[in-house]
Amino acid sequence: MTLDGKAALVTGGSRGIGEAVAIRLAEDGADIALTYHSQADRAADVVDRIKALGRRAWAVRADSADAPSARAAVEGAAAEFGRLDILVNNAGVGVLGPIAELSLDDVDRVLAVNVRAPFLMAQAAAAHLTDGGRIVNIGSCMAERVAFPGGTLYSTSKTALTGLTKALARELGPRGITANLIHPGPVDTDMNPADGESAALQSGFTALGRYGRPTEIAATVAHLAGDDGRYITGASIAVDGGFAI
Ligand code: NDP
Repeated sequence: MTLDGKAALVTGGSRGIGEAVAIRLAEDGADIALTYHSQADRAADVVDRIKALGRRAWAVRADSADAPSARAAVEGAAAEFGRLDILVNNAGVGVLGPIAELSLDDVDRVLAVNVRAPFLMAQAAAAHLTDGGRIVNIGSCMAERVAFPGGTLYSTSKTALTGLTKALARELGPRGITANLIHPGPVDTDMNPADGESAALQSGFTALGRYGRPTEIAATVAHLAGDDGRYITGASIAVDGGFAI
């Protein structure tokens, strides 16, 4: 398999897109470290499923909003497997609402989880990543097209990942390490359930007229992480059913 012998860290691997990414990379041969914030049972279940695939798996509670905890997750993953080949910065929070109603706490938390943590984890990972390693950041279609009001904070946070991704690609390219950004469209998860209040509105903004599945995002992560993705770097890739066109 393409990822045999590789070790990956997936943040927010206990549910949703991160869960699908963790399982897919394990199916492709990688050992998986994952972080979670509060859902220890869900993380344990993902670990069991990865082990059932014959891969090693390790889960650690790490609040991305807490810098030491975020960094420690990277160090722990590298120590657990003795190497680190792939970092997937997936953990994220969505706080939507009119700008007048967003508190300073909202701003600090969303920027800490969605921007500062991916930065710090990429920084920590860069010290461990093998030559030819991979960083995949998970952004949002709302970094490309803000189709309805209420996205000031979330869009700000996800757009910041464009700069991070391009600069990482430039800096780490000489080591053969790629950095890319995936912008998912509406994807059926706890964060954004396909039967939620605004689901019809969101589906209506896509060309395909439907929500995506977590596995459809994971497939693109797997391509970028695998050998076939080796010449893609610094790219922002929409996996959004046409939301942003
Ligand atoms: P979910 O809310 O379903 O899952 C979030 C995951 O992140 C969980 O594993 C959760 O852990 C973890 N997490 C949340 N907060 C923290 C934190 N402070 N520290 C560490 N881990 C944390 O989200 P999705 O799967 O939907 O989203 C995944 C990514 O995709 C996010 O970055 C999101 O912004 C992005 N995205 C999602 C879209 C969608 O429509 N679903 C669309 C576009 C982008 P725990 O289980 O322990 O709570």
